[in-house]
Amino acid sequence: METIYRKIDTENIDMSAIEEATSILREGNMVAFPTETVYGLGADALNADASKKIYAAKGRPSDNPLIIHVSNISQVERVVKEVPKTARKLMDTFWPGPLTIVFKKADIVPHGTTGGLDTVAVRMPNHKVALTLIEHSDIVIAAPSANTSGRPSPTTAKHVMDDLNGKISMVLDGGPVGIGIESTIVDVTSGVPTILRPGYINKKMLEEVVGHVEIDKAILGKPDKNLKPKAPGMKYKHYAPKADFTIYEGSRDCVAEKINQVAKEYIEQGYKVGIIASDETVDLYTVGEIVSIGSREDEITISKNLYGVLRDFDDKQVDYILGESFESGELGQAIMNRLLKAAGYQVVQI
Ligand code: AMP
Ligand code: MG
Repeated sequence: METIYRKIDTENIDMSAIEEATSILREGNMVAFPTETVYGLGADALNADASKKIYAAKGRPSDNPLIIHVSNISQVERVVKEVPKTARKLMDTFWPGPLTIVFKKADIVPHGTTGGLDTVAVRMPNHKVALTLIEHSDIVIAAPSANTSGRPSPTTAKHVMDDLNGKISMVLDGGPVGIGIESTIVDVTSGVPTILRPGYINKKMLEEVVGHVEIDKAILGKPDKNLKPKAPGMKYKHYAPKADFTIYEGSRDCVAEKINQVAKEYIEQGYKVGIIASDETVDLYTVGEIVSIGSREDEITISKNLYGVLRDFDDKQVDYILGESFESGELGQAIMNRLLKAAGYQVVQI
């Protein structure tokens, strides 16, 4: 299949591209499009055959449900059984934005879209291209991240093309995304709202709106056989670069000293080494492919760059990645959740 690639100016959207994408979606085929979190791989959420194509293109396990993207509240009412009061408050406060809400699903939503679950995850993205496409087509769009399953999520249209060129009908290139890590997922179907996946919208922000919020214990640390994550996707090894990735935790100078020492040893053995530093520490490193992922004072630059840095290391065929930890700050938990998964939970305390 030939993949149509169209650049699209967010400030001046070419409606002929949106029209073309709409036709593709109506035929039950796939269009990748930008959102503020990562690029999504979209298809008609109410068409089970279209959803099936998403799983095939990504190589995604069929029990890992898709998030439905909407552009207005009446579309939410179309796909859910009921809108609880807490959900209403969350939607009023955070939508459009990087918050996905899990509801009880309406009958109209096929189990092929929800991975067999009777619940459905819904989000209104804060991106003009995404909103225009959903609004214009009036199709509720199932869209997981537009990457091959297991690879880092795509934060540019090039990342999408690298993984899915020839496998999907169209890519809309709206430039690099703004946040760079996937949405926060919160479940409102039973009692206390529960975070199933951390993201830009954190626990504190949610609690200011709906009171006490819990975090699914299964997502906090290393995967535990006895704890099953409520977001099925969280159990898979995700976001992973090809290289062997280890995170070093400890004081700034000790971490740098240790990473320099380990990097030197690997390089002497003939391996290629990538180092993930920050603007504040980048000058402390002496060997290897040294990359600053962003400033610790401006965490959004870190989340925005994270997946791109991992993909660049793949392109450079790095054998080992040695990275700093990014525990602190408002976004720290979401960033570390992704980094730990990418590193397969290999952490060295210095
Ligand atoms: P992605 O769109 O690739 O970021 O993946 C979607 C994420 O949403 C996965 O981790 C899914 O497990 C999660 N998800 C989607 N629908 C549901 C649902 N009904 N209940 C819980 N988690 C969900
Ligand atoms: Mg994904």
